[in-house]
Amino acid sequence: MPARAVAAVNLSAIERNCARLRRELRAGARLAAVVKANGYGHGAVPAARAALAGGAEWLCVAAAHEASELRAAGLEAPLLVMGALSREELEVAAAASADVVAWREAFVERLPAGTRVHVKLDTGMGRLGTRDVEEARRVAERVAARDHLTLAGAMTHFATADERGDDFFGRQLERFAAFAELMRAEHPGIVLHAANSAATLREPAAHFDLVRCGVAIYGLDPFQEDPAAQDLEPALELRSWVADVKPCAAGESAGYGRRFVAEQETVLGVLPIGYGDGWRRALSNDADVLVRGARRPLVGTVSMDNVTVDLGPHATAAPGDEAVLIGAQGSERILAEEVARRLGTINYEVTTGLLPRVERVYHRDGRPE
Ligand SMILES: *Cc1c(COP(=O)(O)O)cnc(C)c1O
Repeated sequence: MPARAVAAVNLSAIERNCARLRRELRAGARLAAVVKANGYGHGAVPAARAALAGGAEWLCVAAAHEASELRAAGLEAPLLVMGALSREELEVAAAASADVVAWREAFVERLPAGTRVHVKLDTGMGRLGTRDVEEARRVAERVAARDHLTLAGAMTHFATADERGDDFFGRQLERFAAFAELMRAEHPGIVLHAANSAATLREPAAHFDLVRCGVAIYGLDPFQEDPAAQDLEPALELRSWVADVKPCAAGESAGYGRRFVAEQETVLGVLPIGYGDGWRRALSNDADVLVRGARRPLVGTVSMDNVTVDLGPHATAAPGDEAVLIGAQGSERILAEEVARRLGTINYEVTTGLLPRVERVYHRDGRPE
């Protein structure tokens, strides 16, 4: 019998997605795999290994302890911590031999010896980085002037790369391109990088020396459509099982608040997954589940530990049957993008929001790891 719910991650899919992204890259550009937030819920270490096998040459995370986790697992690839870091976290990043991001001169003074630095220009994201090109230049100068520090790169981040046809993206790209040219002239040998997944797929001129791809390596579509349109394969399937089957007469209800009342006689299936697993309560009466190759509606309120599914009056499903919440079964398929649409969010949040109670299991095209 399976665990309550498992996230089955196909490492071969991550590998192929990386190889596919690499084929997209302009000559000389390299691929960094972004494995922050536990690899968008897929498991940081296995995802990083698969990405490197698929041709990624760098790894990126957001937090210093995420860098330590990768190093503890024996991963030796160049590693960039992209987030804002406290003094304590700077020490953690240094101990993990991870590069860090800087955009204020005062911050440079705090950097532990040996730190490799990427200076960040805020070209319009309005988050980390300085909006002032001169400040970015001074930060780069200061790092380069210190014997105990290395200026390793210059970067920016796009706010609207995933909004096709938007012209703000182009303006950010122009700003960064001008800055990149300056940096290249003043500090030859540094790595210039800007693109996330959407920018990588959308605009070769954004590739520079390195692209930082997260969502796409997991086979999720940065544009929130079908990943197949980008030749990406979803790596994660979320599966549970039918723990119980019970008849439900017309007028009988299921779940907290009786938010489902059967209009006619039917059969209900109970699945041991709920919002305590990251299967969000907002999916109450608003999700489908695949059982015996057919789409069945999730009915009633999602509770912490269980959901109920309307198996229909002629159900043949039996306890022990597999139930697929994200992924394929027979000829039916539910994408993380569909779940996201129903929740009014993006695919990133669907997989990243799977909680630790969901066991991660790894395979390569169906062969267990
Ligand atoms: C998360 C992140 C990325 C990856 O973005 P995707 O859209 O998942 O490809 C790239 N760069 C920075 C700075 C990030 O924070």
